[in-house]
Amino acid sequence: MKKLISLFCLAALLVSCGGKEEKKTEDEGIKIGTSTQTEKKEDSKSVNVALAGNDMMKFDKSEIRVKAGQEVTLTLRHVGKLDKKVMGHNFVLLKPGTDITTFSISASDAGEAADWIPDGGSAVIAHTKMLGGGETASVTFMAPEAGSYDFICSFPGHSAMMRGKFIVE
Ligand code: ZN
Repeated sequence: MKKLISLFCLAALLVSCGGKEEKKTEDEGIKIGTSTQTEKKEDSKSVNVALAGNDMMKFDKSEIRVKAGQEVTLTLRHVGKLDKKVMGHNFVLLKPGTDITTFSISASDAGEAADWIPDGGSAVIAHTKMLGGGETASVTFMAPEAGSYDFICSFPGHSAMMRGKFIVE
């Protein structure tokens, strides 16, 4: 939670300074943490990953790579305009062996009350909350052991298109 707050502080700082443009490009991760004023520096032990979802029901990345043992701070931005009841997006990193289709059906059943995360997140390594257009959320977690994992959006019907590989090297 602390880290989340510090990220938001940093974002506010960057805006208020009006200094260097911190343009977020589509293919480069948001380098939050390059400022000297933040404790959230990127090094071999931690990495920041930026992911965006839009109103076309698409993530801007189909593959994310990190290293085993790194502390990953993933920031998801919903760059669309639609409400989260219509076009909600989250980032859900599934535990190995979790079937995307089965999980997605359970997520739909769990519904909005559970923020579309079934069984209290027992099949999930990490996830953000569900976002609507214009919203941003971060989640920080330790990268699991080396391997290939699936990430999805668990909003009903979205995982068919909104999915990718989270690769731990
Ligand atoms: Zn979605």
